[in-house]
Amino acid sequence: NLSDRLERSFKILKGEGKITEINVAETLKDVRRALLDADVNYKTAKEFTESVRQKALGQDVLTAVKPHQLMVKIVHDELALLMGETAIDINIKGSPAIILMSGLQGSGKTTFSGKLASLLKSKRGKNPLLVAGDVYRPAAIQQLKILGEQIGVPVYSEEENKNPVKIAQNAVQYAKQHGKDLVIIDTAGRLAIDEAMMTEITAIKNAVNPQEILFVVDAMTGQDAVNTAKEFNDRLDFNGVVLTKLDGDTRGGAALSIRSVVNKPIKFVGTGEKLDAIDVFHPERMADRILGMGDIVSLVEKAQEQYDEEEARRLQKKIAKNQFDFNDFIAQIQQIKKMGNLKDLASMIPGVGKQIKDLDIDDDAFKNIEAIIRSMTPQERTNPEILNGSRRARIAKGSGTNVQEVNNLIKQFDQTRKMMRAMTSGGGKAMMRNMRR
Ligand code: GDP
Ligand code: MG
Repeated sequence: NLSDRLERSFKILKGEGKITEINVAETLKDVRRALLDADVNYKTAKEFTESVRQKALGQDVLTAVKPHQLMVKIVHDELALLMGETAIDINIKGSPAIILMSGLQGSGKTTFSGKLASLLKSKRGKNPLLVAGDVYRPAAIQQLKILGEQIGVPVYSEEENKNPVKIAQNAVQYAKQHGKDLVIIDTAGRLAIDEAMMTEITAIKNAVNPQEILFVVDAMTGQDAVNTAKEFNDRLDFNGVVLTKLDGDTRGGAALSIRSVVNKPIKFVGTGEKLDAIDVFHPERMADRILGMGDIVSLVEKAQEQYDEEEARRLQKKIAKNQFDFNDFIAQIQQIKKMGNLKDLASMIPGVGKQIKDLDIDDDAFKNIEAIIRSMTPQERTNPEILNGSRRARIAKGSGTNVQEVNNLIKQFDQTRKMMRAMTSGGGKAMMRNMRR
């Protein structure tokens, strides 16, 4: 599913010290693919990844946040944005306000009609009337009546009348005469390709002029949900979407797709069969759900272990070839910072161990070191030999430190390198292996 796919794509960013053009591009390629697979249309997916890219690259991840965490947050916020910035309220003004349900058979229209009536009655002080507009199944009227009884809301029905347009009109008249300020019209399930049925619901719409037409869709139907939403919207130009059966582990990728394809707000979600299992749709919360935040953390941790092993192997190779540079140096610092207690862990930097052990290390010391290295150009990081006086002065200025500190760091780095080279020749290799344990 979408969540798993996104989680996997974030792995690319694991351990990276910085969000760069390259690692963002790689991650977003996966994010885009995941979105496309989840039925988000091409244009939306492209726009989505582009705005994530711009936001990611503008971010400074020098301090506490790890790049993948930052990416998760950026993607999360963009997802929320894609589903609508805020919750959009249902329009219940009017005397009476008229709400018309639409959707496939079994999508949850009747259940939701009951839930909505109950919610608006208890939380918004409405005096609702439920209308049995499904005249095709004998059990349908009975089902609505039972729901109405449970929530204490009257149900308008005409057992002998088989014309739902007339029933709807009569119900509105009835509501006006009986002081009902809210009419919720349940309808039969229909397919968008069923011309006669679509003509029928259009006729109901034209006859009673509802201010809210809600499209009710089963969140578990995935790709189909999106197609159906589009077809219904083309015919009915509905006002909002209700996503039902969003309980259990349905993650709601459909929410994303529907929103992006029909560009109508999702207004409610149904989260169970009980009549109080209804929630106003909150884009933020849905983004949480789609991303499955909790899962990401553990996955990221697993990926971390794998990364560490690969990194150690890579580093060993570089040291053997005397190619250990400032990029590696800062990567090591990043690794250490991730692990927590600096004093205990500092000695684990390959080759640095002994020298640093006796030093007074605190977070600020690392901050300066990082700042200095980040102020170096890529060329300077890979070829520290070229760091002459004027370069050092520039780096000091850029990092907000002084030349003395820059000199110290470079000296320390040189010593580390020398020691590493000494170790990798002869008995050093065994020592390195021991250090990593
Ligand atoms: P309709 O044909 O569109 O009117 O659909 P119904 O309201 O009759 O619902 C069809 C089935 O889905 C029923 O068994 C409902 O109990 C169930 N249902 C409806 N909404 C939800 C929901 O949010 N969660 C779960 N788990 N089941 C639901
Ligand atoms: Mg029904």
